[in-house]
Amino acid sequence: MIPVIALVGRPNVGKSTLFNRLTRSRDALVANFPGLTRDRQYGDAVLEGRRFMLIDTGGITGDEEGIDEAMAQQSLLAIDEADAVVLLLDAKAGLMAADHGLIDHLRGCSKPVFYVANKIDGTDPNIAMAEFYQTGAKQIYPLTATHGKGVRQLVGDVLDLFPDADAAGEGQDQAHGKKIAIVGRPNVGKSTLVNRMLGEERVVVYDQPGTTRDSIYINYERDGEPYTLIDTAGVRKRRSIRETVEKFSIVKTLKAVDDANVVVLVMDARENIVEQDLHLLGQVIDSGRAVVVALNKWDGLSSDQKNRIKTELDRRLRFIDFAEVHFISALHGTGVGHLYESIEKAYASATQSLQTRHLTTILEGAVYDHAPPMINGRRIKLRYAHPGGQNPPIIVIHGNQTDKVPASYTRYLEKIFRRELKMVGTPVRIEYKTAD
Ligand code: GDP
Ligand code: GDP
Repeated sequence: MIPVIALVGRPNVGKSTLFNRLTRSRDALVANFPGLTRDRQYGDAVLEGRRFMLIDTGGITGDEEGIDEAMAQQSLLAIDEADAVVLLLDAKAGLMAADHGLIDHLRGCSKPVFYVANKIDGTDPNIAMAEFYQTGAKQIYPLTATHGKGVRQLVGDVLDLFPDADAAGEGQDQAHGKKIAIVGRPNVGKSTLVNRMLGEERVVVYDQPGTTRDSIYINYERDGEPYTLIDTAGVRKRRSIRETVEKFSIVKTLKAVDDANVVVLVMDARENIVEQDLHLLGQVIDSGRAVVVALNKWDGLSSDQKNRIKTELDRRLRFIDFAEVHFISALHGTGVGHLYESIEKAYASATQSLQTRHLTTILEGAVYDHAPPMINGRRIKLRYAHPGGQNPPIIVIHGNQTDKVPASYTRYLEKIFRRELKMVGTPVRIEYKTAD
């Protein structure tokens, strides 16, 4: 599993600056989905080929005099969910009362903590560092988040604590067949759906799942096909109904998404689509996983209500027109069997093998129909395409001035490739390689 790092500190110490620097590729992706507001607190990041997840506790306007309530809660939650904590201090401002509050808390915390002196530029580093060493920290990392100076050293050291993170995770070892993650915010019906999927008569469940990991991995067979259900609701872990509601955790959800081949995003038809659903959907798209949307609790609605919900859905899910949507009732089992048809299609699309010649032909057709724009009097040239990976399918396009290709043109190409390759339920990623 990929390590999770929380960035904590007073407001204005530079957490978001560091976060944005480390998750830049994700920002570019976000820009591809205009109109999609999202929680920016969780990001996927890569440093020298090593992947990790970052949690930014920024955006909280805390009381500078002490740790204000909301900030404390956010930070504590992030610390709780993380494998390691990076505490940012502001070298320009020096130590402040609010820093002491966090430092005290982190002393009592069993996770590894990295102390950082940010904004070391334009200060006398020795003076700033000396002040911070008074906190008792064994090591302080000097950093200039705005220029990226010191980032590699800091993050490299954090990641060295998790040497196996790149190897196959626990889930991968245990997994069997296609991995399907069932995700969604609390109360949308994930547990009911998991039980329903496993309770079908055609299903043979194998393992007694372990209880150590966040999500539960359940191996089963359906119509002779092996699957692993990644159960973020923790259904099988609960010993009784009374042990009820599993704590909802974004990190747990994102880890499950990351480890899945296909994600079933469950939403509640009775509550309409709420911001949190869209955040999750945005995260799923960013992850590149294949996705099927299940609009649950479709039972007992009037046709008026159904029409209203469908209109709303069309409007809000426009940016993910490639995903198939199912209207289901996990409670009664209606529509659940059909979910598998979309899961299979999405999986097949996400993992189909692509041929260089075919991709290049599609590219040529797309460029012929609609040429990329001129930049400073020179037309962008896209010459050929080859496959770069699966789940998500990656198409690598070679040409000139490819760094100038507008996002709208890339979206156009994505659409054409998806249409020509008959891809359903999976995002497709375009990467460029330029010759000049
Ligand atoms: P956050 O509230 O902790 O997320 O802080 P931000 O990332 O929003 O940064 C607050 C301000 O500090 C912004 O104006 C940044 O440009 C600035 N800042 C962040 N890192 C550095 C740095 O390394 N050096 C300097 N001089 N300014 C920085
Ligand atoms: P989770 O928190 O996402 O795992 O949601 P649960 O599976 O625990 O379901 C939350 C509530 O919604 C429970 O009271 C379920 O009985 C109810 N529920 C789940 N699926 C359906 C459905 O398809 N129709 C209706 N009417 N209620 C449902």
